[in-house]
Amino acid sequence: MYNPRRLGTGDAISVFFSRANGAATLEGVAFRSEPGASVTASRTENGAFISRQVQMPVSFEIARISQPVEQGLYATALRHGATDREISALADAFAYDVDFQRDVRPGDHFELVFERFYDDEGNTVRTGDMLFIALESRRGRRAFYSFLAPGDAQPTWYDEDGDSARRFLMKTPVNGARLSSGFGMRLHPVLGYSAMHRGVDFAAPVGSPILAAGDGVVERAGPFSTYGNYVKIRHANGYETAYAHMSRVAVASGVRVRQGQIIGYVGETGRATGPHLHYEVMKNGDQINPMALQVPNGRNLTGRSLELFQIERARIDTIRLARDREAAPHTQTVSAPAVTGQ
Ligand SMILES: [Zn+2]
Repeated sequence: MYNPRRLGTGDAISVFFSRANGAATLEGVAFRSEPGASVTASRTENGAFISRQVQMPVSFEIARISQPVEQGLYATALRHGATDREISALADAFAYDVDFQRDVRPGDHFELVFERFYDDEGNTVRTGDMLFIALESRRGRRAFYSFLAPGDAQPTWYDEDGDSARRFLMKTPVNGARLSSGFGMRLHPVLGYSAMHRGVDFAAPVGSPILAAGDGVVERAGPFSTYGNYVKIRHANGYETAYAHMSRVAVASGVRVRQGQIIGYVGETGRATGPHLHYEVMKNGDQINPMALQVPNGRNLTGRSLELFQIERARIDTIRLARDREAAPHTQTVSAPAVTGQ
């Protein structure tokens, strides 16, 4: 049932003895096996031991973490009771604005508001829905509210005006890359004369995943002249994106792709001087500068949806304010539950 090897250094174990005629007899052992559960072993009348796992009572709260980033955002959030779920939701929501490796630094501020179930020691047993996220970095402060719009299957993130956190097209469809050559006239690194560079180049190690900049249909996938291994995607509203010099293509022509899906890997096939992604954005067939892209957000709420969003936003802000008042006079320990019971 429970492998005692899972016990770690520093874990507390309670041991119970009875004493008769100066001799102590072991009667039972108890320890916390995981957040929200303990294992007990106790002596039965015939002298054997019987063990069982006991679920501890769990409390519920709407947790609010509002903290400066210490050595890293991930570690800081975990230490204050968040789980991987909340941290990856934060990373996803900010993926279109913030490069977590370059833009987030110690001293930046983040806030997470989410449903949390915890045991009597304050350990997170599990988490529920997320309500709010914010990040203040050198990119500025951005905050998003979770909202399930009428007709949608899942909630998504909206800023305070009801504009979706999701962008129509990503500007940087490869993570952790460096912009190595911009859009416009330049001395061509291979040909040696000035020519129009109709895309942007991102230097990144061979094998770095390349992401679909937006939802769409793959128009072309495979070797294409000096572009090497190449993918072109058709999006809505007359937009297309193209990705060149891949080491490997990960999609086939004709398939539908989602924003953020891996479509290939950085390489240096075709006419390239080193591993990089050459990225092009086309509007009605003409290349435009992806860095100057001013395309609308994925979706802006209007009408009745916007009214419902404003009600939900006010509810979340009320919760945030209440949690802020509770947290203020105390040192940073686990805060008191808002509601008790499951
Ligand atoms: Zn290029």
